[in-house]
Amino acid sequence: MSKVLVIGAGGVSSVCVHKMAMNAGIFSEIHLASRTKSKCDAIAASVKQRTGVDVATYEIDAEEVPALTRLIEQTGVKLVVNLALPYQDLPIMDACLAAGVDYLDTANYEPKDEAKFEYKWQWAYQDRFREKGLMALLGSGFDPGVTSVFAMWLKKHKLKTIRSLDILDCNGGDHGQAFATNFNPEINIREVTAPARHWLKGEWVETPAMTIRQQFDFEGVGPKNMYLMYHEELESLAKFLPELERGRFWMTFGDAYINHLTVLQNVGMTSIEPVNYQGKEIVPLQFLAAVLPKPETLGPTTKGKTNIGDIATGQALDGSGEKTFYIYNICDHEDAFHETGNQAISYTTGVPAMIGAAMMLTGAWKGEGVFNIEQLDPDPFMEMLNTQGLPWQVKELAGPVEF
Ligand code: NDP
Repeated sequence: MSKVLVIGAGGVSSVCVHKMAMNAGIFSEIHLASRTKSKCDAIAASVKQRTGVDVATYEIDAEEVPALTRLIEQTGVKLVVNLALPYQDLPIMDACLAAGVDYLDTANYEPKDEAKFEYKWQWAYQDRFREKGLMALLGSGFDPGVTSVFAMWLKKHKLKTIRSLDILDCNGGDHGQAFATNFNPEINIREVTAPARHWLKGEWVETPAMTIRQQFDFEGVGPKNMYLMYHEELESLAKFLPELERGRFWMTFGDAYINHLTVLQNVGMTSIEPVNYQGKEIVPLQFLAAVLPKPETLGPTTKGKTNIGDIATGQALDGSGEKTFYIYNICDHEDAFHETGNQAISYTTGVPAMIGAAMMLTGAWKGEGVFNIEQLDPDPFMEMLNTQGLPWQVKELAGPVEF
């Protein structure tokens, strides 16, 4: 049985559902539910036109656990793929437990009133999933997701230990807008404006947001400024790579993006504290998200490439001393749009979500309890990346990074 229910109908969901339909041998029946049914219908129409596959659509508020449980039971699916927002992770996990089905997501839970993302809330579901014999797979996007699988592949095939790991996320795409985010603006801005944190010798080191900068020459993109940030996979990688001395996450931003964000922050538009406006409580960041371009509308105009990967240093598996490897994927925005109607940020997240779901439905990945993606065998996932539009390359560098 390989019926699947996808929740959420944004850019990531659109890519994932298209790719599921292109792998009909694995996904025998695709159900799609979100808060706004017309968005599900638009995805279903595009999927039908591009692949000939039917997708059943539904309206659901995923925070209504009893209603979602009924929908899961009614569709008879084996797996729920959560591509709504991080706020919905826990209610969707609750509904999966109630209906007795497996769960997958691409972003860890974040409470709405606190810009803080941590795995502790979802790791707390470990016993409940294990006792019911169900599997929850956390973080099956690109970062988190592929970047963790890359690290574990290096650990399996190249390095006995990983002493230092740098995750480099470069979006060299240009969408032609003065200011827009490539995925959900509210989640993106909460992430970017949070203090930077990196792992150093068993402790978290915190620095103010967007203050540590390096230039790096990305293949396929060219030299870009990248900024030290906190990203959720650092928490799970520090746990599952106990030998890790230093773990850092870097993301590129252009000067125009930084200038706009600085102004918006200075005038209070990125705040998540509610304000009273004409007798109604509004959250400035939510209002800002409502006026910014929708990420799913950026596809037709976005040109350029993404280059996301890991640089890892550690003792070589073959005993030849310390070695450094760089493993990465380059994805072209226009190619992604041509294939699924969405730009590369949605593509690089939606494809790994589909692959994670395929791993679970085919039994390549099995387990009872809550798993981060780095706990599972990287090989079958890495093989599918190559055949499903996200080919990767690995090369040895002369030595550790100099920054
Ligand atoms: P979008 O904002 O484009 O889409 C989110 C969708 O979820 C919308 O269709 C929205 O519905 C729906 N939704 C929101 N609340 C509810 C609810 N209560 N019940 C049902 N549906 C709901 O986001 P993206 O597609 O850009 O991102 C999707 C997810 O992917 C996010 O969690 C994001 O953090 C994650 N992500 C992960 C990455 C990774 O590499 N790991 C990278 C990029 C994104 P409506 O449109 O009606 O509001």
